[in-house]
Amino acid sequence: GLHNLLMELRGNIRVHCRLRPLMEFDCGTEDQATLGKPGSKSEVVAHCYDDENICVKTSKHNKVFEYERVFNPTEDQPVVFDEVQPMLTSLLDGYNVCIMAYGQTGSGKTHTMLGSHNNDDYNPCETMHPDEGVIPRATRELFRLIEEKPVGSHTIEVSVVEIYNNDIKDLLSKSSTTKHELVTGSDGLLNLPTITSKPVSTVYDVMSLVQRGLRTRSESATLVHDHSSRSHLIVTLTVTSVAPSFFTVSKTDNDNLQTVKKAGGRPQSQPNLWSGDQPTNQTAVIKTKLQLVDLAGSECVGMSGVKGAALREASHINKSLSALADVLGALAEHRTHIPYRNSRLTHFLQDSIGGDSKLLVLLCVSPAARYTSESLQCLGFGQRAR
Ligand code: ADP
Ligand code: MG
Repeated sequence: GLHNLLMELRGNIRVHCRLRPLMEFDCGTEDQATLGKPGSKSEVVAHCYDDENICVKTSKHNKVFEYERVFNPTEDQPVVFDEVQPMLTSLLDGYNVCIMAYGQTGSGKTHTMLGSHNNDDYNPCETMHPDEGVIPRATRELFRLIEEKPVGSHTIEVSVVEIYNNDIKDLLSKSSTTKHELVTGSDGLLNLPTITSKPVSTVYDVMSLVQRGLRTRSESATLVHDHSSRSHLIVTLTVTSVAPSFFTVSKTDNDNLQTVKKAGGRPQSQPNLWSGDQPTNQTAVIKTKLQLVDLAGSECVGMSGVKGAALREASHINKSLSALADVLGALAEHRTHIPYRNSRLTHFLQDSIGGDSKLLVLLCVSPAARYTSESLQCLGFGQRAR
């Protein structure tokens, strides 16, 4: 539809930025006298000009960054999801989709992706909680869109993994020792036979599995400090749609037809969908992937003065986030070689970034002066991806 057309005009990568409100922890131990004052660490230095421009005040100058959409601190979860919604329509039109949150620890990535109810007392239920983030909302929207579809049948599977120190961990599996290799299947898509993928049919199913994954993640964390911000969390929903082949019109103009297969399994390179002599009992199987990513904290990039395990973690986060920047940079420049294989993170996301897949990067930014350099780094990352 219109969204796909607009994406094509702009390229398949969109970047949004979300500025969160000033929080109590931004003020640290600062005393009341200096709190929020110009020059203090809790001074608010990031401002939204309008819904496309954000400005960061530094000691030297004001720096303005432009994105397709900038959310100001008063814009809540439903507003953010309104802009995400078209990605779900694309998913059911046959495109792979990736939505990722990038930013330093404490900038609002998990709030944006999961909501503040990502802890143990969050009870995933059928009715929406106003604070829910992108993952539960996208899941609900996916089931709603499927319900609306007049034809075809759809099955959905979910997997939950984390990438920590460049190793993939299956958070829905009890065995933590399996080494997961990423293999490209005969259809050109990643094939992950060792990673648990569970069939789901409700939002509740999905969120219960996500929650189980989060529990496994925190229980097995070897280090005491904030493990969740040291690893990348990836929730993958795989949608398999079976429909009479003459209904699968939305992708006929695309090269990505390796994902369109006859029920027999052989890739169908040029389905002549409207020809009158098409046998009516033919069906097409389309597999699409939605990958939802809560990235590790980006403040580690350029981190110094750390030792031991923390240094190892930081350097892996560094490598994976710069590999991600390299992939996005190569795509933005329309290069022929895209270096997906330089890290497990980019390799794992390969099917849903690049090609005709749709990527939405949500930059999360804190407004406080104490994070000015991290905020500038994050905003710069988003600028290079466009
Ligand atoms: P991150 O995952 O990037 O480390 P979090 O999502 O955990 O950051 O956010 C840190 C804190 O700030 C949490 O307590 C979260 O609820 C709060 N927070 C983040 N973004 C917002 C927002 N837009 N509105 C209200 N609270 C927010
Ligand atoms: Mg987080």
